[in-house]
Amino acid sequence: MTTGWLTIAGLGPGDEMLVTQEVREAIAQATDVVGYIPYVKRIEPRSGLTLHASDNRVEVDRATHALEMAARGQRVVVVSSGDPGVFAMASAVFEALEAGPQDWLDLTITVLPGITAMLAAAAQIGAPLGHDFAAINLSDNLKPWALIEERLQLVGQAGLAMAFYNPRSASRPHQFARALEILRSVCGDDTLITFARNVSKPDQKIVTVSLRDATPEMADMRTVVIVGNRDTRRIGRYVYTPRFAPGFETSSLKD
Ligand code: SAH
Repeated sequence: MTTGWLTIAGLGPGDEMLVTQEVREAIAQATDVVGYIPYVKRIEPRSGLTLHASDNRVEVDRATHALEMAARGQRVVVVSSGDPGVFAMASAVFEALEAGPQDWLDLTITVLPGITAMLAAAAQIGAPLGHDFAAINLSDNLKPWALIEERLQLVGQAGLAMAFYNPRSASRPHQFARALEILRSVCGDDTLITFARNVSKPDQKIVTVSLRDATPEMADMRTVVIVGNRDTRRIGRYVYTPRFAPGFETSSLKD
């Protein structure tokens, strides 16, 4: 009879104040914490707890290792930044679970949400995601770039605001320039775009410009990018998107 369990926990965007109480409690009960090096570094070492930090891009190996330990009776927490279900470890664990032995399905597996980068960033500037929006990972590690371009076109045409994760890495510097080109042509030059870097960390930097003035260098892998819809506007130092579609009567809103 095993008492092992596996919990996949989101650590939020960086500030310790933004780690939920249930995530703290899971880590306090864990025998093992597994994750990408910078996230595991955030965990306070203590006796009885083994930290397993691994490099990026080995998500399914890391997930398999976590499942193996839980199956042996260990209490394992897999950590992600932000929310574990947003471009992070939760799906990797379920991929490993699906590929693994049938009896892993009897393990107690729990996903604990965290504050994802786009929501932490949106809160810092006002309410840019107050109407419909789409979250898109701009990395082409797990999908072809052509599909990303197609999605940008279609989402822009649909009039949705957007949040981009992994917007620009040193290994693919031209792609984000191309993404901006597409956005200008589909959404228009006046659409607001916010570059939010290291949100909730001491060196947080947030800049909002029009698509006309946006340059690729404004983004890197520590930045989440929010593109407004055609109605997204500035009032003073705030950026917000009205809840209603253009022309829709505000009096008909329910909440
Ligand atoms: N699971 C994470 C996302 C992992 S993908 C979440 O829910 O937030 C990694 C990307 O997330 C980064 O390239 C960046 O786009 C974004 N990101 C994560 N933390 C961030 C932070 N503190 N500030 C700005 N962007 C962040």
